[in-house]
Amino acid sequence: MKIPLLDLKAQYLSIKNEIDDAIKNILENTSFILGKPLEVFENEFADYCNAKYGIGLSSGTTALDSVLLALGIGKDDEVITVSHTFIATAEAVSHCGARVKFVDIDEDFYTINTELIESAITEKTKAIIPVHIYGQPVDMDIVLDIAEKYNLKVIEDAAQAHGCDYKGRKTGSIGDAGCFSFFPGKNLGAYGDAGMVVTNNEELTDKIRLLRNHGRKDKYNHIVEGYNFRMDTLQAAVLSVKLKHLDEWTDKRRDRAALYNRLLADSGVVTPKEAEYSRHVYHVYCIRSKNRDKIIETLNKNNIAAGIHYPVPLHLQPCYEYLKYKKGDLPVTEMITQEIVSLPIYPELSDEQITIICDIVKSVN
Ligand SMILES: *Cc1c(COP(=O)(O)O)cnc(C)c1O
Repeated sequence: MKIPLLDLKAQYLSIKNEIDDAIKNILENTSFILGKPLEVFENEFADYCNAKYGIGLSSGTTALDSVLLALGIGKDDEVITVSHTFIATAEAVSHCGARVKFVDIDEDFYTINTELIESAITEKTKAIIPVHIYGQPVDMDIVLDIAEKYNLKVIEDAAQAHGCDYKGRKTGSIGDAGCFSFFPGKNLGAYGDAGMVVTNNEELTDKIRLLRNHGRKDKYNHIVEGYNFRMDTLQAAVLSVKLKHLDEWTDKRRDRAALYNRLLADSGVVTPKEAEYSRHVYHVYCIRSKNRDKIIETLNKNNIAAGIHYPVPLHLQPCYEYLKYKKGDLPVTEMITQEIVSLPIYPELSDEQITIICDIVKSVN
């Protein structure tokens, strides 16, 4: 039996009729750019996040880019985030001309170590980007308190945390703005690239709407120089269909994760912890083991995929040499990077498949 990291085909087959109808409808209406279905999805997803506004963008990356640009963050500014994330989080900081400052993570939850944030703040710091990595929310109340004390903006990278609950609030709606990715493999995934910013700030919404569409007020009236950061209507139509299923899929992911946790309980590997203030959405099911490489090798030999999210932390990437970080600067990030393994997780993953995977992990560890 072959087990992939995620199975997008199985998901498509389970909702094929709804998806095919939605796509056909767009093709027949030819409303490919900024069509009505985009506006519909923006409102649906903002509502889902308990946020006032949603702005559809071309990717999670351009969602992050456009928030930093719209907030006027740029040259001579610093932005605090983690090194243990996908590179888009840090790229957004550099894209607007600011400098990224990496803070180490918490050993239990792999999210930003909130106790280290204040010591990273300088007079140049303008914002913090907490990343809800793997679908586990950052302890946002602490981040918000620090941000208020130092007058900083808070931009949530919620690219892995669709529908994730933090003390009764939805991730993405807690800071000044939340950035989502609908990359196909995300918990809510399009059939191509797409992203969204959600926020309660009307002024920020207007600025991002201008920036995403060449700074246009109308067709050839450009208020500012902008970008082409628009979400395709076709993707919005697909996402509207999928959003209706998201809570059910998240429940299944949580149930799949719970089975993994049970089966691996006495195996010696570190299974994911869930903070009591949160409802993890398990975009990634990440375990830790000193025998990580052997686990991956044996799984692969048995036709089972496994991943590492992420194998090289950003502060040690060639492209960030200019920031002058060195090995040892972020010890927890560097330690877990050597031990983490992402096991297959998706709603359609069966009990039998999880049992096979856990038997292999236990035999190797
Ligand atoms: C996927 C992801 C992004 C970027 O999203 P894209 O839609 O691929 O541009 C940003 N941050 C994190 C944490 C991600 O996982």
